[in-house]
Amino acid sequence: MGKNLLQKVWEAHTVRRLPTGQTQLFIGLHLIHEVTSPQAFEDLRRRGGRVLYPSRTFATVDHIVPTASQERPFLDALAEKMMASIEENCRDYGIPLFDLADERQGIVHVVGPELGLTQPGLTIACGDSHTSTHGAFGAIAFGIGTSQVRDVLASQCLALDPLKVRRIIVTGRLPQGTYAKDVILTIIRQLGVQGGVGYAYEYAGEAIERMSMEERMSVCNMSIEGGARVGYVSPDETTFQYIRGRRYAPREDAWPQAVKWWKAMASDKDSSYDDEVKLDGARIRPTVTWGINPGQSVEVDERLPRPSDVSPAERASVAEALEFMDFQPGAPIAGTRIDVAFIGSCTNGRLSDLREAARLVKGRRVASHVKALVVPGSQQVLKAAEAEGLDQVFSQAGFEWRHAGCSMCLAMNPDKLVGREVCASSSNRNFKGRQGSPTGRTLLMSPAMVAAAAIAGEVTDVREFFNEPALK
Ligand code: SF4
Repeated sequence: MGKNLLQKVWEAHTVRRLPTGQTQLFIGLHLIHEVTSPQAFEDLRRRGGRVLYPSRTFATVDHIVPTASQERPFLDALAEKMMASIEENCRDYGIPLFDLADERQGIVHVVGPELGLTQPGLTIACGDSHTSTHGAFGAIAFGIGTSQVRDVLASQCLALDPLKVRRIIVTGRLPQGTYAKDVILTIIRQLGVQGGVGYAYEYAGEAIERMSMEERMSVCNMSIEGGARVGYVSPDETTFQYIRGRRYAPREDAWPQAVKWWKAMASDKDSSYDDEVKLDGARIRPTVTWGINPGQSVEVDERLPRPSDVSPAERASVAEALEFMDFQPGAPIAGTRIDVAFIGSCTNGRLSDLREAARLVKGRRVASHVKALVVPGSQQVLKAAEAEGLDQVFSQAGFEWRHAGCSMCLAMNPDKLVGREVCASSSNRNFKGRQGSPTGRTLLMSPAMVAAAAIAGEVTDVREFFNEPALK
């Protein structure tokens, strides 16, 4: 019987089994950012520790970065303090920092892959939940808490519980208007937000194999929203071609050896899994969340659930979500008026996301009552988009074109919802208060669906845009 990728990578990085039953796992790459690292460094300093592998540690700034004016000092004193703290810590411990003046800066899960730091067969840790993104490359990538950030800084290791592996096979070809975001929202809807607890998700099947690396990243990014500890795709030619030539990728003389090792880390054809789930990709439709967790979603032409229609176990949470969102049971999601449209985040703030959204908004105008933002995931994405003229397309349509950062994904910066605003968002969480207003409401969807909603001023089926001539 062969082994799956998780088993191989886990074995290759095991330092020892701990008496607790956990594994002490070596971490190949540690990515840090300004929000979850200050206390970790403070603790390290207090204990007189050092960073064991500064060469395996890279820092960027993303969560608190303003995306309009980036003038220092920041108006928010706490943000300025976090910024000063990561600058000092990286200087003191010899860690490369991609700060605002550095063209490598951006959201941690966008810059790791685009710089070639994220590679197959690696173990990766980062103090952000959506570290699972890096699994798109066949890495095992863990989102960790502040005390674990300290542990990785000091020891380059983590103590981890064993994981089961669920293989999620998405067969067939995705129809027009269905994107990677719809695939992962559908998976989470079917398996539940707790369905992946104790599991790694291995994504496979024709629909996944046909995806670009950016699409695979969108899928893996939201594994955590389905409760999975990590999510990954076995590396293939698409993976290798994406990595080749990037700044931190193996040099040409080391390339054949690297690819040989990466291929060896891929799941064997006869691997065993603890569970297997199959979905027909050809049947997945544009999907929108209507509730207060990413599992509460419907296809754009479906109606919202009624508490009486769902299982007794779900009834209370469906009723709570409908009440919070101020939605009527059984109402259609299409036609829901929006106030804000946000295209960005580590789920969907990459160049291909912006290209697709720009293709849809070109020659059209954002509805007059909608505030619309496009926030590139990194400075590299921003530059590439500007080189293609996408910024002009968005600006002419009435979107604000911003600097790179997390922006409205979690609103630890000036980009926030106000009051009861409804936001069509390409990000990954729709929890109460996630976008800065305790009463603000988030509808998650693909960036193309956000673009369509921005133009229509309400949730609308992006597929209708493909046949409709743009207004000049
Ligand atoms: S975009 Fe959102 S999920 Fe991604 S790193 Fe930033 S805050 Fe975290």
